[in-house]
Amino acid sequence: MSMRHYDCKNYINLDCEKGMCAISKLIVPIDGKGSEGCPAFVPAEKCENCANFSNPDSYGIGTCTGFDVENWAFASCGALTCENYKAR
Ligand code: SF4
Repeated sequence: MSMRHYDCKNYINLDCEKGMCAISKLIVPIDGKGSEGCPAFVPAEKCENCANFSNPDSYGIGTCTGFDVENWAFASCGALTCENYKAR
């Protein structure tokens, strides 16, 4: 699992390069230097962090078994509003 600020529940996206940490209120980069998360990292609600998501391919497309009918899902898809999200 990635531990970048971008993948943290406390990350607030500002634009395509940076965001803000809701805890420290610091501006943090999406990738590159300084993009690694801190010890307070909490995985964001994304399909890739859900117990119902499995077998992602090299494009991040995997299988969702959280609903009656099995379907495909993107690993990076935001799951904040998914009623069947289950943190791993
Ligand atoms: S990893 Fe730490 S600094 Fe980065 S967004 Fe999360 S809590 Fe804030």
